[in-house]
Amino acid sequence: MSIWKRIAEQISSVTGEAFNPQEPKHVGGGCINTAVKLSDGQSTFFVKLNRAELLDMFEAESEGLAALAASQSIRVPIPVCSGVAEGQAYFVMEAIPMGHGGSKSMELAGRQLAEMHRVRENRYGWQRDNTIGSTPQANTWTDDWVDFWRQHRLGFQLELAVRNGYGRSIQTLGEHLLDRFPVLIDHAPQPSLLHGDLWGGNLAYDESGGPVIYDPAVYYGDREADLAMTELFGGFGQAFYAAYREAWPIDPGYGVRKSLYNLYHILNHANMFGGGYLGQATGLMERLLAEV
Ligand code: ADP
Repeated sequence: MSIWKRIAEQISSVTGEAFNPQEPKHVGGGCINTAVKLSDGQSTFFVKLNRAELLDMFEAESEGLAALAASQSIRVPIPVCSGVAEGQAYFVMEAIPMGHGGSKSMELAGRQLAEMHRVRENRYGWQRDNTIGSTPQANTWTDDWVDFWRQHRLGFQLELAVRNGYGRSIQTLGEHLLDRFPVLIDHAPQPSLLHGDLWGGNLAYDESGGPVIYDPAVYYGDREADLAMTELFGGFGQAFYAAYREAWPIDPGYGVRKSLYNLYHILNHANMFGGGYLGQATGLMERLLAEV
């Protein structure tokens, strides 16, 4: 039986409705997985595929989307099912027909993200580990934010960089930075529900211009970590930031913390892709150390 037939059967059994899809349509744009749309002309599903051993990554994505959806703030695709068929891991979610967004959509995105960040826990971390891109991301519950960021975010990526053979200078700079961490962060934020990988490529607009976010790396942490990432590669306009700040002002000292939070993603890119990201990470660490 073909993989599509098996996935269609699973969709039918979860939704309780017959589903006999036509030929799958491949979708471009993803960095990590193969993506297709499966449709029977009435219902359409967005399906991601990867190697069978990566099922856990899809299950974490599914739980992440469910947690974001439960916040009833910003729209996310609703997860449907996941599993292994014909030797491949799959993850099925609602397919959202995408449209365009103007400044009103951006404004809504800012307001809704602030609402999502109001969902809180009393510790940092999450119910399970997940991945950031294709790199493991540990979410061990931790009481102290500085400890969490030092150990499970920057510390982990720095160790990975050393294991990848990126040399002593990154290790030395990293050790200095971890030492000065409490001075650089000096901040006890509330543990907010975060998307975790909120770059411009993970935001789109539905057909009525409503914002949609997807492909999350969910955990509870400093909301500034999400905001920092929106600034890393661009794509979020002024209307977004104005609406966010109006809904929930940003604390003083964000500028330095922003660099520290984005260093995590730059190091992750260096660990995944190497090249120019390594120089960018080193430069940023030197600038941060010059601040203290
Ligand atoms: P990957 O996990 O491989 O990085 P993404 O989740 O980023 O893949 O999805 C790839 C592209 O597919 C996105 O840029 C977006 O345009 C589109 N997309 C993602 N999820 C959906 C969805 N549920 N419905 C419609 N399009 C989607």
